Amino acid sequence: MDYKKLKFETRQIHAGLNHEESTGSRGIAIYPTSAYRFKSCDYAANLFELSEPGNIYTRLQNPTTSAYEERMAALYGGVGAMALSSGMAALLITFTSLASAGENIVTSPFLYGGTYNQFRHTLRRLGIEVRIASDPTPDSLAALIDENTKAVFAESMGNPTCAVPDLEGIAKVAHDAGVPFVVDNTFGAGGYLCNPFDWGADIIVDSATKWINGHGTAMGGIIVDNGSFPWNNGRFPLIDGPSEGYHGLNLYEAFGNAAFIVKCRVDGQRDMGTCPSAFDSYLMLLGLETLSLRVRHQVESTRRLAEFLKESPCVKNVSYVGFPEHPSHDNAAKYFRFGGSAVLNVELKGDIDTTVKFVEALELAAHMTMIGDSITVVTHPASTTHKQLSEADLKTAGVTPTLLRISLGLEDVEDIIADFSQAFCKAGLC
Ligand SMILES: *Cc1c(COP(=O)(O)O)cnc(C)c1O
Repeated sequence: MDYKKLKFETRQIHAGLNHEESTGSRGIAIYPTSAYRFKSCDYAANLFELSEPGNIYTRLQNPTTSAYEERMAALYGGVGAMALSSGMAALLITFTSLASAGENIVTSPFLYGGTYNQFRHTLRRLGIEVRIASDPTPDSLAALIDENTKAVFAESMGNPTCAVPDLEGIAKVAHDAGVPFVVDNTFGAGGYLCNPFDWGADIIVDSATKWINGHGTAMGGIIVDNGSFPWNNGRFPLIDGPSEGYHGLNLYEAFGNAAFIVKCRVDGQRDMGTCPSAFDSYLMLLGLETLSLRVRHQVESTRRLAEFLKESPCVKNVSYVGFPEHPSHDNAAKYFRFGGSAVLNVELKGDIDTTVKFVEALELAAHMTMIGDSITVVTHPASTTHKQLSEADLKTAGVTPTLLRISLGLEDVEDIIADFSQAFCKAGLC
């Protein structure tokens, strides 16, 4: 089936749904297996030499996970995808598949906190330097690229301020330098709100824990390869060069434009062991069937809540990309379906104590560090994710004592508004 001909809503249900001939099962089976019996020794040898596709061991592939990977590749229109145990694992495998010690990656500064830590601490200890630009403009990123740069990176919508960079401009800067553009598209909701491949990205990394799963029931990450990058430009001997682990096999010669995603699996997943469980892949497949329906509802609810909060006397300001005054309004309108997001930030009046009272008085909205859940989530960075930061660092990160990040769930938004109203009163804000 050529999924490219089908609409997103159809692909999210049908891609990867290879009805099992023997049972006619509509559902995709969960294969709780670690290994697979080989038909013969020759067959096993071929699998190990990568000369024939097939299942070896669940660290490398699993039939349930393969169905999920096929669906993700189809949703984005990529040549292949690989599922991992978390979004952080997806980032780690992506960057270690591209760069070695002594080489570097250039990134936009608007980063998820976990990504920032991976860049600043773990990758640095491995000898991979991550150069963080002072702002996300293509020029600032271009200025940091040198002959040892192996990728340019940005989040399609930066956590937590919902900043949307000039994806097209950054893609051009990366390609002019002969390196791939890697995008963390977690906020692009599995491609429904934003598909960075349409704007020149070569590799997409998502935290599937968020909108793809959609119900707060499993951790996961996904890497999707557009198949667009010319790995034979002389800059990537790890991909277009002899692989030591496979008797000198050249992945680019053997797998063509799917060489990167193959490398992520046969080196990254093999050596780092960041595989998902079949059960979690099943939960992702189930979540994907309703992705567009959930996200559309969440974006609409976010707009409604943003409008309510803007009028509220208990609120100092609302930061929502759908409003013209948001600094990323125009880029969001260009790159994101509905020009919107399912996340907004709000600063309450009062101080840190009234904000804590407000959060603790909420009855429906949950106080957690999570986004993309079917439950509405409220996060208070000053008392949680950013508690260790000094006052100066809080200021740089844009975190004020009364700032809240809200990720709308699937409830009727009028019930969420009523919940907020009663919590404002309990916090003494009205
Ligand atoms: C949550 C998140 C991650 C990390 O994903 P995990 O699944 O939690 O490991 C990476 N990037 C962004 C933008 C995220 O929101």
